[in-house]
Amino acid sequence: MDFNGKVALITGSSRGIGKSIAKDLASKGAFVIINYASNEQAAQSVKDEIESKGGKCEIRGFDVSSYSQVNDEIDSIVKDHGELNFLVNNAGITRDTLLMRMKEEDWDAVINVNLKGVFNCTKAASKYMVKQKSGRIVNISSVVGEMGNPGQSNYSATKAGIIGFTKSVSRELASRNITVNSIAPGFIETDITSGLSDKVKEYYLGQIPLSRFGSPEDVSGVVSFLLSDAASYITGEVIRVNGGMYT
Ligand code: NAP
Repeated sequence: MDFNGKVALITGSSRGIGKSIAKDLASKGAFVIINYASNEQAAQSVKDEIESKGGKCEIRGFDVSSYSQVNDEIDSIVKDHGELNFLVNNAGITRDTLLMRMKEEDWDAVINVNLKGVFNCTKAASKYMVKQKSGRIVNISSVVGEMGNPGQSNYSATKAGIIGFTKSVSRELASRNITVNSIAPGFIETDITSGLSDKVKEYYLGQIPLSRFGSPEDVSGVVSFLLSDAASYITGEVIRVNGGMYT
């Protein structure tokens, strides 16, 4: 895959799956925009790592849940780089608890980052992609968006919402040569899952036919495929990357 000359924004790319996507796209020649919300140091270390291998990138800290911040940043990216070719909506948070204990702010925070963030970034980026008559958008959903999970009603709702959003927007943008797809990872070893108890991890492992947790690279490889020319006839899809946990 050759992504030379492509400009890619990956939201939430200072850690975890987003970091792996940023490194992979940069290694294939893309100019990568590393986004984070609060931890600038983590974003800087991704930048250093990419540049040490000869890759090209920059950091832009902004909150995907802010409509105005997202619009200002995406306008500025296109002003600086001429175009925006790839958008990967990866930023996500959890506020896990059972519905009976869930506070209004737990619900709102997760909806605002995980779902409104995808709306904000896709709307702002697609304005330019429509003008360019080309673009690729990949939205990171989750196995729990299709399967459900106790303690994650807020998170699962956002991840199911991303699938519906992907399917609708793919139909709206197809005539402009823009593809919009979703990836639904299973249990991937990152900060988001590291806090789970050994008992919970053991339970999940028992549900995975491939008998291992996924790595960020298991997901970033599929992102690169969806952004590549090899995937030019795929749109509105949900690709499951879950070791067979849910099929
Ligand atoms: P992670 O390690 O917790 O990293 C989350 C990233 O999102 C960080 O870079 C974080 O930056 C950024 N972020 C959080 N809130 C943000 C905001 N408001 N605006 C911009 N950036 C923000 O998460 P991960 O496990 O890599 O997950 C990445 C995506 O995959 C998420 O959408 C998640 O739901 C999805 N997913 C993960 C798994 C899994 O098992 N890990 C499974 C299925 C789906 P800061 O550090 O600066 O806050």
